Amino acid sequence: MASTTGGIPQLHIGPELRCKGWRQEVLLRMLENTLTNGEHPENLVVYAGTAKAARNHEALSRTIALLRELEDDETLVIQSGKPVGVFKSGFHAPLILMATSNIVGRWATPEHFEELEKRGLTMFGGYTAGDWQYIGSQGIVQGTYQTFVEVARKHFDQDTLAGRLVITAGLGGMGGAQPLGVVLAGGVAICAEVDPSRIEKRIETGYLQRSTSSLDEALEWAQHAVAAGEPLSIGLLGNAAELLPEMVRRGVVPDVVTDQTSAHDALYGYVPIGYDLAAVQEARRTSPDEIRTKARASMVEHVKAMLAWRAAGAVVFEYGNNIREQARLGGVEEAPSISGFIPEYIRPLFCRGIGPFRWIATSGDPDDIAVLDQLVCDEFPSSLAAAWVPLAQKHVQFQGLPARIGWLGHGERARFALLVNAAVADGRLRGPIAFTRDHLDTGGVAQPLRETEGMPDGSDAVSDWPLLNALLNSGAGADLVAIHAGGSGYAGYFQSSGVTVIADGSPEANDRLAAVLTGDTGIGVVRHADAGYQSSIETLKEVGDVKGFVEK
Ligand code: NAD
Repeated sequence: MASTTGGIPQLHIGPELRCKGWRQEVLLRMLENTLTNGEHPENLVVYAGTAKAARNHEALSRTIALLRELEDDETLVIQSGKPVGVFKSGFHAPLILMATSNIVGRWATPEHFEELEKRGLTMFGGYTAGDWQYIGSQGIVQGTYQTFVEVARKHFDQDTLAGRLVITAGLGGMGGAQPLGVVLAGGVAICAEVDPSRIEKRIETGYLQRSTSSLDEALEWAQHAVAAGEPLSIGLLGNAAELLPEMVRRGVVPDVVTDQTSAHDALYGYVPIGYDLAAVQEARRTSPDEIRTKARASMVEHVKAMLAWRAAGAVVFEYGNNIREQARLGGVEEAPSISGFIPEYIRPLFCRGIGPFRWIATSGDPDDIAVLDQLVCDEFPSSLAAAWVPLAQKHVQFQGLPARIGWLGHGERARFALLVNAAVADGRLRGPIAFTRDHLDTGGVAQPLRETEGMPDGSDAVSDWPLLNALLNSGAGADLVAIHAGGSGYAGYFQSSGVTVIADGSPEANDRLAAVLTGDTGIGVVRHADAGYQSSIETLKEVGDVKGFVEK
């Protein structure tokens, strides 16, 4: 039986099967894991302010019941978090197909999305909440670390941020990885956060080292650590829209500035100046227009501080939360000139199909991840994934199902997955492994203000690519395929696709893993080659498993 607490299914681990096959069981565990790792599971909210794993509690219970009855040759179809039917599809078809938050272009606005959501017709699924791939802040920590290392390489001509001060805000589901990412890169981080419970959670899980509500104390700690060249992370309780301008007034000039408050959502995300958490929650219900206006006005102050620091010589970039766009809408014309983190630091990796691939041990046994750590280090010794393993083993606590995120590239992912399937088959692993990736990856997304910002051929907003990615993954036999668009404050801002494919040790899994993981990164590299990146063309030639691409 799926056991529940307060209507939330509890994560099930071990050898007991509750479904008709391991593939279905693994997907059920992934759903349970997503909720276990979520920020507000009681409301089914997982991260990014309002991104949910299911439309409502009734839809969640029905999904679980249907999943438990699902046959190997059937497909469960889920529309924005609500199951709508089970179809006979064949043994090679996905077990689950999802479409989440998609709205016809002309109507894809935050306001219209909210109206549809209120009427119970849609939900926002974020990137990994709606399709049950969320693994907690650990899912983002390597990418965050990688970004800060690339910042050091690009701007300071060194591999670490030792002796550098980073100022940021937001310690939520994704942003909570920032303090650890900076510390692993050797730097000092001050992270403003308005919600004390978020600060406590990051301290408890080892992502944050110290906390204070005193700006003086935070600055003093930071100054000492910077002078000593020692890594340190400090959570500073307060509103970023007040704290950052105050630091500017005091003449503080950090080396690096970014932000991961939930600025994408002016209503349910960003907390305006002058509101405590209880007051903002109440006001969101009673006077939403006023909150939206005030949140945007606060973001204007926040972004003005970022621009002042840029003028003073700091490296300033947006970390994918749309705060530039919010400030632009609030009248700051210069806001879009702040750089985005993808074109600045991550795009060169995407061009080669390298991105946040992840493997999840559905047995619940951490030893399975230890076996895979060794395998990735032995087989791909010069990969970013192998370099990450020792750091992750030392600093990253597992959350929910043991998992690892490893930035492997095109060709490598498929090869690794086949080795893993063999290890499941011969008993070196205690249970099946689920492979997923973030939508923020080489082939899974079109988001002109983030992942596809500044493509050289101007194709930033062409969303054919993630849709083709999903179709290809579906045809290749992935276990779960999802197409998403932005909801809430992100409505109209992106189109993406997600995929889960399972190594259960069977020969059929070999076919699925090879085809899905070749096509998934392959279409991403083709997309970048088509945009004109030479390194993508070289990758396709080197790996040699995609035929017929057009060399520009
Ligand atoms: P979240 O909702 O879990 O956390 C946001 C945090 O910001 C909360 O803890 C909230 O209390 C805090 N906050 C809100 N207003 C504040 C203010 N005025 N001052 C200080 N703190 C404030 O969201 P998340 O999952 O952490 O995501 C953060 C943002 O980053 C989102 O917009 C998300 O879409 C974006 N994002 C990041 C990445 C990445 O790669 N790092 C990728 C995609 C999106």
